[in-house]
Amino acid sequence: SKEQGRNTYNFYTEKMNKDVARRLLIEEHLRSALNKDEFYVIFQPVVDLRRRVVIGAEALLRWNNSEMGNVQPDEFIPIAEQTGLIVTIGQYVLEQAFMVISGWREKYAIDFQVAVNISPRQFRDAGLVEYIQKLLEKYSLPASAIELEITEGVLMTGHGMIDVALSDLNKMGMGISMDDFGTGYSSLSYLRSYPFDTLKVDKSFINDITVDQADLQLVSAAIAMGQGLGLKVIAEGVETEEQYQLLLDHQCEYGQGYLFSRPVPADEFELLLETGVVH
Ligand code: C2E
Ligand code: CA
Ligand code: CA
Ligand code: CA
Repeated sequence: SKEQGRNTYNFYTEKMNKDVARRLLIEEHLRSALNKDEFYVIFQPVVDLRRRVVIGAEALLRWNNSEMGNVQPDEFIPIAEQTGLIVTIGQYVLEQAFMVISGWREKYAIDFQVAVNISPRQFRDAGLVEYIQKLLEKYSLPASAIELEITEGVLMTGHGMIDVALSDLNKMGMGISMDDFGTGYSSLSYLRSYPFDTLKVDKSFINDITVDQADLQLVSAAIAMGQGLGLKVIAEGVETEEQYQLLLDHQCEYGQGYLFSRPVPADEFELLLETGVVH
């Protein structure tokens, strides 16, 4: 009826207004979050599956706002990206990650890699490569201690600048990782055209491998293909022993997920480094 139609309309406009208001609120608070010291970076171990030991970490950003509390990256990163705020926020993440890994390498005398997520907007910033170079010097780190994780979104923009930045970083010896592998449209052609070192199989594929034969076949093929290309293959989102066993059966070498550890603050991560083993 007409009445129903109007109610549906009101329902959608109300929801839309709410979403817009929330978005604006996040944007406003994001602008002052760095100055108010509301961000922090936590670390999730990357695990050698066969030996079940920690071989690296992924740095992940967290935001605790005085008014809104914890806001999830999936919600605020896209807004930071659209507003360009991700450039300075991303610099903060890079510096935190470099600082922490340089401390670990000294304290534990380990040859260890930290992966940092870099979004498309950061690559369009002409200063990215230079900024990274300066940080390497400041923290006396070899480029090989760092890996940059990018998604197809970075490559899709078609900016020549991004190709140059990637090739510069690669020449410096920095690792480049394809994140969320399998979720985009052209993962395969990008694998052929860019100097990747690592392939991270998206957790949406790992999720059902114990019950979905098709997912298991896709994951198994991705592992074989990545290894065939000489890449390090990491399975994301490993949550259960059953998934872990299947990945081992399919010769997957590396994994990440709640089964081993959630992302944790640097001091808590050190406890993992001291024992070396994840259970
Ligand atoms: P991502 O790069 O794919 O990161 C992996 C996400 O999976 C993280 O969520 C991590 O906490 C979560 N995760 C790890 N193990 C498991 C598991 O076993 N099960 C499940 N269900 N989830 C698991 P998080 O930290 O909420 O980050 C979400 C996304 O936000 C990231 O996805 C990444 O795209 C973005 N992000 C996070 N930190 C940064 C950053 O510093 N810079 C940029 N540009 N993006 C970031
Ligand atoms: Ca990532
Ligand atoms: Ca991912
Ligand atoms: Ca993701």
